[in-house]
Amino acid sequence: MHEMSVTESMLGVVLRHAESNKATSVTRINIVLGEFSTVMPESVQFYFDIIGKDTIAEGAELNFRRTKLASRCKDCGKEFEVVEYDFTCTKCKGENTEIISGREFQVESIEID
Ligand SMILES: [Zn+2]
Repeated sequence: MHEMSVTESMLGVVLRHAESNKATSVTRINIVLGEFSTVMPESVQFYFDIIGKDTIAEGAELNFRRTKLASRCKDCGKEFEVVEYDFTCTKCKGENTEIISGREFQVESIEID
């Protein structure tokens, strides 16, 4: 059920954007999906086919771009890709790091007619 609400809010963003651009149909939706996200692309597609029906986004192609899990060191500012859940800074070996990508699910852009 998680993906259903995610898909609903995604569709909301897409429709608002399409309407403000006076689109008659949405042909493609480009989505950024972190590799560490729990969202399954197949489930989003499944729910999109149901909720998107009878909207101008019906039949739009969903394109997922996967992003790697990445972290930033709060001590030295180094940004690095996290490999095998090792969050240690690759530059200063500090452990004071925060995740900056890899968990996102967001609409990057849409293509409209
Ligand atoms: Zn560091």
